[in-house]
Amino acid sequence: MAFAYYKTKRLRFIFLAYWFLLAYIVAALIWWFIALNTQNHQMAAYKMAQLQKDAPSFYFNASQIADTEKRKTAQYIGEGSIFLLLILTGAVFLFRAVRRQFKSSQQQQNFIMAITHELKTPIAVTKLNLETLQKRKLEEPQQQRLIQNTLQEANRLNTLCNNMLLASQIEAGGYRISTEHVDLSDLINNCVNDFSTRFTQRNFHTDIQDGLFVNGDKLLLEMAVNNLIDNALKYSPKESAVGVLLGTDNGKILLSITDEGKGIPDNEKKKIFDKFYRVANMGAKGTGLGLYLTKKIMQQHKADLFVKDNTPAGSNFIILFKPLSSKR
Ligand code: ADP
Repeated sequence: MAFAYYKTKRLRFIFLAYWFLLAYIVAALIWWFIALNTQNHQMAAYKMAQLQKDAPSFYFNASQIADTEKRKTAQYIGEGSIFLLLILTGAVFLFRAVRRQFKSSQQQQNFIMAITHELKTPIAVTKLNLETLQKRKLEEPQQQRLIQNTLQEANRLNTLCNNMLLASQIEAGGYRISTEHVDLSDLINNCVNDFSTRFTQRNFHTDIQDGLFVNGDKLLLEMAVNNLIDNALKYSPKESAVGVLLGTDNGKILLSITDEGKGIPDNEKKKIFDKFYRVANMGAKGTGLGLYLTKKIMQQHKADLFVKDNTPAGSNFIILFKPLSSKR
């Protein structure tokens, strides 16, 4: 806390110093313009005073002095404006770059905190469950509950590790997607079955059309679908249903995953696909990697992923795959 306070205080000071310097540079530029222009006027006036009024070349010389004065004023205005424009453009770029950098370092810090928590919890739960099973003679249903709980935590850890590994591989440009003929209907049915055995108390509404195929990487597609279903479960109340629909729409394959949770505010709808981004106060654990990866995976598959509001409440994540016959 103290560190954060110190940091924000220091940051406020840096931003204040930045704006002060910028204002000083602009003010100095304006001051120089006024000073030069005044000097220009004075020079012209002085030269005019030197002219002999009754000389035959008076009008010619006077008009030349006036022309020079005008040209110099135009030159000062032109050069000054370009200089001002360059300074302001540079300042805006710099400001935005620093702000972006600051945001990303803050998100990385949040990520480190989240990941520490996400790694520690499953390990602690698993350890405790195994110790309980080892030390105490439990009834069969109790044993099963502990085993089920341990498996859930192991799955969570597995998803987390897969997400982190894939994120670093994608970042390093080292992941090559394989393109095989994937039975999407089958894949989604399997994902839903897997979740319904893990979350027996949850209700799934499914409408999955048979025989829909895409070209793609089975593992990555599974990961993307799992991330979306996992989020739908995580960010909605236990008693509400999660919908999984697979069908066709205007010649494209459409996958829609709906939940009846709080939904996502309009101003967050784009940001949630950024790396490490998490909407504040959602009350669920996470790292902010899932949607970033899902978006990347969909880009690799030339599919569109976006989010809409579900009616009457919650979110609706939609993926539109290109039809199989289209050339890649
Ligand atoms: P994580 O769930 O690990 O935080 P994600 O990248 O999967 O990371 O999601 C990013 C953020 O988007 C989440 O923190 C959450 O705030 C929001 N979000 C994702 N899915 C949903 C959903 N179905 N309903 C409401 N908010 C969601």
